[in-house]
Amino acid sequence: MKILVINSGSSSIKYQLINMKSESVLAKGLVERIGIEGSRLEQEVNGEEIEIEQEIADHGVGMELVIDTLTNKETGVISSVDEINAVGHRVVQGGKYFDKSVIIDQDVKEKIEECATLAPLHNPPNLMGIEVCEELMPHAKQIATFDSAFHQTMPEEIYMYALPYELYEKHDIRRYGAHGTSHKFVAKKVAKEMSQPIEDLKIITCHLGNGASVTAVKNGKSYDTSMGLTPLEGLVMGTRCGDLDPAAVPFIMEKEDLNPQEMDDLMNNESGLKGISGISSDMRDIGEAAAEGNERAQLALDMFVGRVKKYIGSYTAEMNGVDAIVFTAGIGENAIELREQICSNLDYLGIELDSVKNDVRGATTEISADESNVKVYVIPTNEELVIARDAKKLID
Ligand code: AMP
Repeated sequence: MKILVINSGSSSIKYQLINMKSESVLAKGLVERIGIEGSRLEQEVNGEEIEIEQEIADHGVGMELVIDTLTNKETGVISSVDEINAVGHRVVQGGKYFDKSVIIDQDVKEKIEECATLAPLHNPPNLMGIEVCEELMPHAKQIATFDSAFHQTMPEEIYMYALPYELYEKHDIRRYGAHGTSHKFVAKKVAKEMSQPIEDLKIITCHLGNGASVTAVKNGKSYDTSMGLTPLEGLVMGTRCGDLDPAAVPFIMEKEDLNPQEMDDLMNNESGLKGISGISSDMRDIGEAAAEGNERAQLALDMFVGRVKKYIGSYTAEMNGVDAIVFTAGIGENAIELREQICSNLDYLGIELDSVKNDVRGATTEISADESNVKVYVIPTNEELVIARDAKKLID
């Protein structure tokens, strides 16, 4: 069985074709700058990369190019599109409707569209990817996996905001969370690594990438997570501010004469590491600049670390303890010093790193000291594999 995993964004389509027998990646690629000058596709097969530069007017043309590339006689990995048994789509927001992956039908599509009010940047292009694939691969089942689904187990007192209750009733204003597929994957994996049932564990999973979130996983279920109604709340991120006094929003809008859209853009795209450092949203650039003595880069780094620490502390309190902490995603898997800083001075919680074991990038490794009460792990995330596994389960 072969499953194509699609992550369709506003101007890009990320894809992986996975052979489910061996769970191996046959091909992975990216179509970018859709509808913009300089559009291109890059695909990797067994470490060999190809690039195609051509005009890609819309997602339909982009997806046709993906299929052509996958089935190309010389560079392709399948001889016909009919070999693709199912397509698994990453959908950011499933709102209150979805607590697991589903086979897509008209009703599912309508609900994804309805949830677009909560994820206006993500759900519309996700839906566009689904519709294009339905048209180009009518033989294949389409499956949706929601970033918010894992967090549907959060208790009411955690997912509610202390706003007038009518706002929840009228507009479904509440915490939904995101990165659920990743948090679920690494939580399950760490339980396996520890040879303990996940139902017996209290785990804090730190997904630290360009977008970043922390989740408290209690007895195998998401209990709390740092992202909220939208992926803006919580940690300091590449370009997102994370937690903020809500009163700062109208204050800034008035002082800077910004409309709601402009304010939203400021908080989502001009803040975080980029906004503080004035240099870059990329943690590697921030790390280098800080090492050269740039004070604002150092401040951005310290704020990032401090916020993660704060969430680890509060989730430990909320769960009345923690058995394991997991670092994943670009920063979590690779930034050795940053993990060290996050875990420093947490010995009162029983958290101690082993600096030799921590000298690792992108490989599943236990990095805590032998005497640490809390196990600390690096676990590379694999959201595509979760989506493919869910799709396989549903069509089986
Ligand atoms: P992601 O969104 O998961 O792809 O993660 C992207 C982030 O990971 C960017 O901020 C990168 O700078 C960061 N990153 C990747 N490799 C490293 C590294 N070796 N050290 C520090 N940060 C890294």
